[in-house]
Amino acid sequence: MTNSQAPDPRVATALDRRHAAIVAATLIGPLALPTLVCYFWICLQYYDGLLVFPSGRILAQIPAPTLTAAAIFVGWLLFQAALQVSAPGKWVAGQPLANGSRLRYRINGWASWWCSVAVLAGLVGLSWVRPTILAEQFGPLITTGTIFTYLIAGCLYWHGRRQAGAERNGIYDFWNGTALNPRIGNFDLKLFCEARPGLIGWVALDLSLAAKQHQDYGHVTVPMILICAFQVWYVADYFWHEEAILSTWDIKHEKFGWMLCWGDLVWVPFTYSIQAYYLVGRPEQPPGWALVSFVLLNAAGYVVFRGANLQKHRFRKDPSAIVWGKQAKFLATKTGHSLLASGWWGLVRHPNYLGDLLMGLAWCLLCGFRSPLPYFYIVFLTVLLVHRERRDDALCSARYGAVWDAYRARVPRRIVPGVY
Ligand code: NDP
Repeated sequence: MTNSQAPDPRVATALDRRHAAIVAATLIGPLALPTLVCYFWICLQYYDGLLVFPSGRILAQIPAPTLTAAAIFVGWLLFQAALQVSAPGKWVAGQPLANGSRLRYRINGWASWWCSVAVLAGLVGLSWVRPTILAEQFGPLITTGTIFTYLIAGCLYWHGRRQAGAERNGIYDFWNGTALNPRIGNFDLKLFCEARPGLIGWVALDLSLAAKQHQDYGHVTVPMILICAFQVWYVADYFWHEEAILSTWDIKHEKFGWMLCWGDLVWVPFTYSIQAYYLVGRPEQPPGWALVSFVLLNAAGYVVFRGANLQKHRFRKDPSAIVWGKQAKFLATKTGHSLLASGWWGLVRHPNYLGDLLMGLAWCLLCGFRSPLPYFYIVFLTVLLVHRERRDDALCSARYGAVWDAYRARVPRRIVPGVY
């Protein structure tokens, strides 16, 4: 073997480092991430939302699972699964898979959302369930839900390892999953976990926290009403446009293991509701001009977010679509997929991320500036979307080659016009 064929030691070192980072994340993640969510809850519950230094005392405050939390968690999963199976909706073909085939998905999130709202309202209206129950069980639900995600991911891992010819990467398979689209019959586990229990659960938590504020102070503050309204709107909007999830990164590229399962079932509902939790104990109101500007910021974010996603969706369905009153401008690629280069997609390469970030900022600002904890959402979302954009950029560059370079030259900014 000549020297030129020997692996470049710099590349080998980089790969070793990447491998070591993945192994470290895989080993630490399933313990560290749930601990972080518990830590946030402890700060909210016992320290008025202030970030306290982690100590032995804090460890002792990690909430123990409860039978009530287990009943809520399992009951909610089963209820949402029953809706996914039986609620009215259309069957839609997903994106082409590597072998050219397409899976079929039952898109009935809109009906499931309204059934969930009706059932929760009925349970509370008939006084069968206290409206504050989720707020009271918030902490135990984090630990209980985490235990169930270990069990679910363990089953997926065990099933994946039994598949003949499946790659084996030890603990990494547990973390990242072994299958792209695990299904039980027609029941798609990833589509189910991506949204149903987690997103609807998130707004159920918000509303329960608002009920808790009402119980504690006799009224619900305007910031609490706004945070609930903004997030209910965000989730309802998701279900109205549910079909668009079939072309998202998670569905197309991400395998289904502990990371996605826990992320969808625990991380999303219990960290995205931090603002509502924080607001429970804050009866004071920001000035009217501030509230109006937060409403406008959220509305502006929504217009960009939804406008951009719809422009891309409609353009991909029909390249002769009209964008902002004109024929869409685009760059044709060899794959048959064209790249939209006008409308929001002519301003930056990921306008949908920009809209999401603007809305997230409005949610955080509603909580004032006393504690950094409510701002965790915008920090996390920024890191997530910047990382995602870079990953997507590399993927599109590999997929579309020179045409992607031309799109990049035409639309040089990634997310924020004139800035980034
Ligand atoms: P996108 O919906 O932007 O999908 C990216 C894909 O779109 C690319 O891989 C490419 O796929 C296609 N594409 C890129 N540029 C163009 C273009 N100019 N014209 C046409 N097609 C193009 O990203 P995500 O799936 O990551 O996100 C979807 C939504 O979900 C976003 O609005 C995001 O904000 C939101 N989101 C929210 C999160 C949250 O926690 N709040 C987390 C993650 C996402 P191809 O060419 O193969 O079709």
